[in-house]
Amino acid sequence: MNFDSHVLNLLDVCVRLVNGLTAGASGGVPVEEPRGLGRQAAVVEALSGGGRVTPTVSAPAAEQLAATARRLRVVFEAVDGGQADAAAAEVNALLSDTGARPQLDRREGQGWHLHFHGADDSLALGWSAGCAAALALALGSDLAGRLGVCEATGCDRVYVDRSRNASKRFCSTACQSRTKAAAFRARR
Ligand SMILES: [Zn+2]
Repeated sequence: MNFDSHVLNLLDVCVRLVNGLTAGASGGVPVEEPRGLGRQAAVVEALSGGGRVTPTVSAPAAEQLAATARRLRVVFEAVDGGQADAAAAEVNALLSDTGARPQLDRREGQGWHLHFHGADDSLALGWSAGCAAALALALGSDLAGRLGVCEATGCDRVYVDRSRNASKRFCSTACQSRTKAAAFRARR
């Protein structure tokens, strides 16, 4: 199945929301869930990558998206742990809770594109529904095994493996290098 840029864009947002808003560890350093203004800034950061328009994010919207991020993490961890049924159950619950629905939208001067909307057009529900829909498309396709959690020691950041041979194991080149260096030291 070929994914259009909208779905790949949404999968990128899923990863950024999980990595920017959930507690755990990143690159060997423990991270806490951001709160208050830090949480709003983390949501802005997660949503504005990849050439997307920088949104204005209210405190309640940030809280809602932080809750979505925790649920998205459940999906990545379930897939990574080989628990496909649990991943599908969480995605189905997210689709239902957000009222995710496909809709054809047309931008000025362009053709019609399939987008995903939530039960209303608020920022938080819209992105939550979009993320749920993108994960549903991924789980129902060849991309199912491509959701992962970093294998490096002291890191649990997530990724979508878009490499040709499905070889990605780390969230970043930093984690990959750190793991290789540790293995090298262990061998000596
Ligand atoms: Zn990592």
